[in-house]
Amino acid sequence: MNLSEKALGIKPSSTLSITEKAGVLRKEGKDVISFSVGEPDFDTPDHIKQAAIEAINEGFTKYTPAAGMVELRQAVAKKLKEDNGLDYDYTQIVINNGAKHSLINALMAILNPGDEVIIPAPFWLSYAEMVRIAGGRLVIVYMRKEDGFTLTTEELERVYTEKTKAVIITTPSNPTGMIMTRSQLQDIADFAVEKDIIVISDEIYEKLIYSKDKKHISIASLGKEIYDRTITVNGVSKSYAMTGWRIGYTASPLNIAKLMSSMQSHMTSNPNSIAQKAALAALTGPQVCVEAMRLQFEKRRDYIYDRVVKMPYVETLKPEGAFYLFVDFEQTYGKSYKGTVLESAAQIGKLLLEEKYIAVVPCADFGMPSYIRFSYATSMENIQKGMNRLEEFLMELK
Ligand code: PLP
Repeated sequence: MNLSEKALGIKPSSTLSITEKAGVLRKEGKDVISFSVGEPDFDTPDHIKQAAIEAINEGFTKYTPAAGMVELRQAVAKKLKEDNGLDYDYTQIVINNGAKHSLINALMAILNPGDEVIIPAPFWLSYAEMVRIAGGRLVIVYMRKEDGFTLTTEELERVYTEKTKAVIITTPSNPTGMIMTRSQLQDIADFAVEKDIIVISDEIYEKLIYSKDKKHISIASLGKEIYDRTITVNGVSKSYAMTGWRIGYTASPLNIAKLMSSMQSHMTSNPNSIAQKAALAALTGPQVCVEAMRLQFEKRRDYIYDRVVKMPYVETLKPEGAFYLFVDFEQTYGKSYKGTVLESAAQIGKLLLEEKYIAVVPCADFGMPSYIRFSYATSMENIQKGMNRLEEFLMELK
């Protein structure tokens, strides 16, 4: 039977398949340490859970408006004003089923067949597939380690064509953990305004920043002209340890918000009503839980970075935010492990799982084939054990 070519062209998420493989080994009794997960290992804070329980008990279990309940959209608008200096009316906010859904909604609202979307590599792997699903053409620009993985306007200029419709930026970044500075964002904003392209700004890791001198800046806050062509994407998944609740949101010009809301009304209707109440509690309740998690992540970031920089054959930059360490294994190429000559991060990732029982994410699908991503969203004890095993592996190379 002739199935959808578009669907057949989509690669399943490689991060999820590694988690699955690790699960199988665990079932066999192996002590697998996972550095592959993309979610906080903390529990959702109690006051947020309580709000959901109350929502159920009060019968808040029916449809809400497709774009989300007004109270939550107002709370998002208030958050964007207070945290990010952004002025949005609640009608410009659309609540989605996680930030992943926000991103695909945004792409579907703006793309016509053949429109090009620029994605700076390394990138979060789902962007590439989402652009394809939405009927766009993917244009990758490579950021360099030597430049601290920053996106330059020279690179943008080089790949820009009259078909360019949008650029996706991520700050803090998954997988590098880098944060874009005001001046870098200003350059991109100037470029977007000059070329009249849309910026999709993924700010899901906004609350997880560890460098004292770095502050999160929303590109849409840099002026009216860039505000008018930015779709800001954010959500509660990472900041409040709420990945399973599936609440993300977009803030955009009203005409785009209306399109996204109308598409959503046919595709999913509103995000889960109970999760919306939980997200409302997250945004309007005490924020100490966010700081407590951030502090834990900061300690882990310092530890894992200090360990890896001292190991042979690998290189990494100190992440400034999110919860990933992005490690280059290129110098291991040509060395051998128990007779196997190393030649790709994918192969090294497989060996690390099978020989040392540590699950990692090789980054070919993130646009950087010699890199492996280590998520430090796991306990300090696991990080210590896992780093011992990684060190052992590297010391055993011949
Ligand atoms: N954006 C980035 C950069 C991410 O890493 C993730 C999740 O890993 C998401 C968006 C998706 O977030 P959500 O779980 O809210 O869909």
